[in-house]
Amino acid sequence: MERRLFLSGALGATALALAGCAPEPKPIAAKPPTVGAPVLPATHVNPAPEVVKVPLPGGPIYQLPGDGNFMAWTVDDGSSREAIEAYADFAEETGNRVTYFVTAQYPAWQEAAPRLIPLIESGQVQVANHTVNHPSLQKLTDSQIQQELMACNQFILDTFGVDPRPFYRPTFGNRDARTDAAAAAVGYTAPVMWYGTLGDAARKTPAEVVALANQWFLPQRIVIGHVNYVGGVTAVFNELNQIIVERNLQTVTLNDYFSA
Ligand SMILES: [Zn+2]
Repeated sequence: MERRLFLSGALGATALALAGCAPEPKPIAAKPPTVGAPVLPATHVNPAPEVVKVPLPGGPIYQLPGDGNFMAWTVDDGSSREAIEAYADFAEETGNRVTYFVTAQYPAWQEAAPRLIPLIESGQVQVANHTVNHPSLQKLTDSQIQQELMACNQFILDTFGVDPRPFYRPTFGNRDARTDAAAAAVGYTAPVMWYGTLGDAARKTPAEVVALANQWFLPQRIVIGHVNYVGGVTAVFNELNQIIVERNLQTVTLNDYFSA
């Protein structure tokens, strides 16, 4: 029954995208997943990507520059240790690469640190900055923006042993030239936006998540998700990996793709 729901959701999303209802529609280069395709064996591991790094463009990043078949899967916030660790398991089991945007106020990050640190050290997982308290940067003064970013910077250094600069994600996607400049003054020169979403800032059913992945898992996209609960994305990791494999996408972290 779930499988039937999943298929009708996927086809519905494709129909919507073809009808031009999706924001900023672009031709879908990859073929949609084959209906009834066999599920990949659990032992399938995607190979590490071979990336020729590109320079940071300067200013906000919405997509991965270039014509490759890469996709940056990013996840934000982190109120759920279970969700954070489920992504780590998924990355390890499938070879996919994930960038977490850490909101430092959540204790789950410290709890999950032992699970994440080996993956950070291997480069398969990256941690970047998503402030401490998740305010809209546009409502803060320059110095408050810098305090939010640098307190999170210190938290990530203390917890994971890495300096996440220059990558940060503006909370709610709210940014402008002033917030960019305030962040750049403390080394955060790369506000990472997105062009594709799993829609799970609010709760989504597994079928809804699969439909959104069908719509947005495309070459050179930066896709946003959240690690705030389990049962949405985490319930359909296998289906999402299937889409990645069938479309010949290679997931990358931002560090994989961009030269400093
Ligand atoms: Zn957020």
